[in-house]
Amino acid sequence: MKRIFSGVQPTGNLHLGNYLGAIRNWVRLQDEYECIFCIVDMHAITLWQDPKELTRNIREVTAGMIAAGVDPAKHIVFNQSMVPAHAQLAWIFNCVARMGWLNRMTQFKDKAGKHKENASVGLFAYPNLMSADILTYKATHVPVGEDQKQHLELARDTAQKFNNDFGVEFFPLPEPIIPPEAARIMSLRDGAKKMSKSDESDYSRINMTDDADTIALKIRKAKTDLEPLPATLEGLEGRPEASNLLGIYAALSGKEKIQVVTQFEGKQFSDFKKELVDLAVSVLGPINTEMKRLMTDTNHIDAVLRSGAERADAIAAPIIREVYDIVGFLRP
Ligand code: ATP
Ligand code: MG
Repeated sequence: MKRIFSGVQPTGNLHLGNYLGAIRNWVRLQDEYECIFCIVDMHAITLWQDPKELTRNIREVTAGMIAAGVDPAKHIVFNQSMVPAHAQLAWIFNCVARMGWLNRMTQFKDKAGKHKENASVGLFAYPNLMSADILTYKATHVPVGEDQKQHLELARDTAQKFNNDFGVEFFPLPEPIIPPEAARIMSLRDGAKKMSKSDESDYSRINMTDDADTIALKIRKAKTDLEPLPATLEGLEGRPEASNLLGIYAALSGKEKIQVVTQFEGKQFSDFKKELVDLAVSVLGPINTEMKRLMTDTNHIDAVLRSGAERADAIAAPIIREVYDIVGFLRP
């Protein structure tokens, strides 16, 4: 059976990159796979989170997922800290994965910044918790944005090493599912940086909670260059901001990027941006409205998460019991 695990951090500011790179793809995969969608609050606290904001963000991300079309009745939607298996297996993987492997992870380098000595141990060990998230359900497929590919490779290495160390065929090696179009949406302020929840500038991203006026303003202010739009894909080389905006248009409209290039050939950015605003508002508007409606009933959201956690635990706990046997721990 094909089982998906995928997660999103409740770090606030769900954005267009999360939607096009992750959540929209989850909605499509629901028909084909058994899905486990997790709000990874334990990952979020690898960087400081204000407790009240964290609680709010857990609910807001849940609302965003449901508003975008994730079905919590048919699939499992829950937050990570409610299911102990994640922490249990993460510790074991801390003892399986090697320092050298983690030292190569680019996300740590990006997020720790200049003062690595001041980063939390959790930020460094983050990929081991992610491996545990996936493997505690023996998930076979993991839809991720391109930014998470390296972590997924580490999860495969860890599964393989666990199997080798203990001489078992226990964990499957999970496969990535990367959406071909819009795998990586870049910042609106800097075409070399990915759009990110944790970017300081709110103008770098379009949030799923932004209203039409804010979306319009952010797209109008998005960085571009001085040339009109090119006639070919090659013409986008060395023009990361133009490439990103055309890529966003393609992803939102469901067209190939080359079709969009042809459509806007020779146009000025000002004309293209007007069309992009209309398209973005038409896709995000209804999601935004539904998200706000869901956020008015937090009891309902909490009930969804508790029910999801119970169902997640029912899958994970027996797998952890087997892991305890393999490692030589006594079962509780
Ligand atoms: P943070 O800055 O807190 O790490 P984030 O924006 O990277 O936040 P995550 O919660 O880490 O968001 O990632 C959730 C999902 O969204 C992952 O599957 C990730 O691959 C995807 N994703 C994140 N940013 C982008 C992006 N710019 N383009 C495409 N997909 C993305
Ligand atoms: Mg991230």
